[in-house]
Amino acid sequence: MSSAVTPSQLIDRFGRQINYVRLSVTDRCDFRCVYCMAEDMTFLPRNQILSLEQLYDVGKAFVDLGVTKIRLTGGEPLIRNNVLSLVERLGALEGLKELHLTTNGAQLDKYAPALKAAGLTGINISVDSLQADKFRQLTRTGDLNRVLRGIDAAIDAGFSRIKLNAVILRGRNDDEVLDLVEFARHKCVDISFIEEMPLGLIDEHSRALSFCSSDELREIIDERYPLGNSHENTGGPSDYYRMVDSSIRVGFISPHSHNFCHLCNRVRVTVEGRLLLCLGNEHSADLKEVLDAYPGDSERLQHTIRQAMAIKPERHHFELNDDEPQIVRFMNMTGG
Ligand code: SAM
Ligand code: SF4
Repeated sequence: MSSAVTPSQLIDRFGRQINYVRLSVTDRCDFRCVYCMAEDMTFLPRNQILSLEQLYDVGKAFVDLGVTKIRLTGGEPLIRNNVLSLVERLGALEGLKELHLTTNGAQLDKYAPALKAAGLTGINISVDSLQADKFRQLTRTGDLNRVLRGIDAAIDAGFSRIKLNAVILRGRNDDEVLDLVEFARHKCVDISFIEEMPLGLIDEHSRALSFCSSDELREIIDERYPLGNSHENTGGPSDYYRMVDSSIRVGFISPHSHNFCHLCNRVRVTVEGRLLLCLGNEHSADLKEVLDAYPGDSERLQHTIRQAMAIKPERHHFELNDDEPQIVRFMNMTGG
């Protein structure tokens, strides 16, 4: 530990400080995106998931350990009953600087103002296509117009940080990269392109064949809108670029092509209460066991979290040479 480290900080054995937690509030979803889930999914029984009280206890324990950013995710976080009450309680935690949400946007026209009032500071909204039929194919159940209304509702609610996320699959939506950038420019919101990751076994498409690298996408965009590296460190895996004639940033999240593990500042907690130390590895600690056995014992919870830092892996290894996922859990279970 360096002398700058206080006892309440989370540092792993590679000297990385963990100040960001992604908390999955449900594994359920109203969409079935082809890269994220199988069509026919079995979700966790309710008695296996953390209660809202327990999710709050986890968030608070992390903030007490020096975490300054929490992202609520899932599954689709906005379909969890009463999730607003959790946002409100977490939003009031002293020491928490950023409380963000990743959503498919379908419920945002209903919830955006209340989320803002409850203390949410930023939203990522996933949108992979701007063509209703293609959007439906990629999400299997999604209604593009609802999501577009949700994006507008988030903008109207006045969030300072709104980012669109798009996963691009070859032969599916790779012809929409420029349309998506133009849409983001028009709405004045950032956009990130995410390389598809081999999480969970799917048979809808071959992940190896559908893979589009960030470098490829960047070239397409750069030809139309020359991109200058923004050299901004947002503490995340996105590599951001700016265009001369727009205030928005274009990000690329490249778990395959550009390894960012040495900068990793985050851990994830699944809705089953499993503390996942790395997106691409199974190393984990069971927080639910502690929460169930010792309700309200924050010291014990913090101790378990601190201990888990010793097993955070150095890096992930995603290979594209076959379609057998190295990680069998789906992204909705992981908390994307
Ligand atoms: N339901 C919300 C949503 O779609 O934004 C939050 C959860 S979702 C799992 C979070 C993000 O993970 C989304 O932007 C989604 O596109 C992305 N995602 C899901 N499965 C993925 C995969 N296999 N590879 C890369 N990104 C994935
Ligand atoms: Fe649901 Fe998000 Fe996964 Fe799509 S990416 S199926 S919206 S959890």
